Amino acid sequence: MSSSNSSNESPVIVVGAGPTGMTAALALHARGVPVTILEADPVNRDRSGSRAIYVHGSTLRTLERIHPRLGSNLVDEGMVWPTRRTCWRGKEVFLRTYNSPDDSETPHFTSVPQVRTEAYMHEALTDCGIDIHWESEVETVDSGPEGVRMETTDGQEWRSSYVVGADGGGSTVRNEIGASFDGDQSANSFIVADVEAVEGWLSDRTPVPLRPP
Ligand SMILES: Cc1cc2nc3c(=O)[nH]c(=O)nc-3n(C[C@H](O)[C@H](O)[C@H](O)COP(=O)(O)OP(=O)(O)OC[C@H]3O[C@@H](n4cnc5c(N)ncnc54)[C@H](O)[C@@H]3O)c2cc1C
Repeated sequence: MSSSNSSNESPVIVVGAGPTGMTAALALHARGVPVTILEADPVNRDRSGSRAIYVHGSTLRTLERIHPRLGSNLVDEGMVWPTRRTCWRGKEVFLRTYNSPDDSETPHFTSVPQVRTEAYMHEALTDCGIDIHWESEVETVDSGPEGVRMETTDGQEWRSSYVVGADGGGSTVRNEIGASFDGDQSANSFIVADVEAVEGWLSDRTPVPLRPP
């Protein structure tokens, strides 16, 4: 544990500036609750990769409600297609076609890289004057009847009435309050690749299933 060299307070502190933490902060702000975000990464971090590219319609409506234009910006920038198909071993196992939304409706989803969603969320936080304290990695969390006291690895002390632990899968906040997730972790490695399609490339090729049926 680091020794504290200064103390800071906020009624609510959100730990983690991923999509969950930023959404929580915007929702609290929309309800008039002052909030501060602590984020371990530096401001110029690299969050490349598509990751959560599928943003569901109900999420879009929530984002629009907590900050005007946040949901509709994702719709305008994203891609919407009418049919979802899931294939397994070369066979189609799921198919669903959605009604085409008109301009006044939120579509059933939009597809947009997570980095773009996060960029719009950052803009919304700036509009609202919500601070993100970068390079503020929470190291310890003590929760009691008087509220919550945390220390960051740079030796700062933070106090608040409530903390939202939005610090991802291996959450320090959850571990510190004894609420770690149970369950297995996959030992597999995954590679996720973003590819750019070259127009016409597939037209003279026969599609090959990922595995033979
Ligand atoms: C390779 C990959 C592919 C994915 N593909 C998809 C997909 O196709 N579809 C989909 O829906 N989802 C996908 N996901 C998952 C999606 O990215 C996550 O669900 C989403 O990022 C979770 O958001 P979050 O805000 O809860 O957590 P995170 O995005 O993990 O954000 C947590 C934040 O907390 C910060 N933090 C961590 N510890 C501390 C600490 N101690 N103190 C302060 N800050 C801390 C981190 O730096 C980070 O900024 C993918 C994820 C990965 C890694």
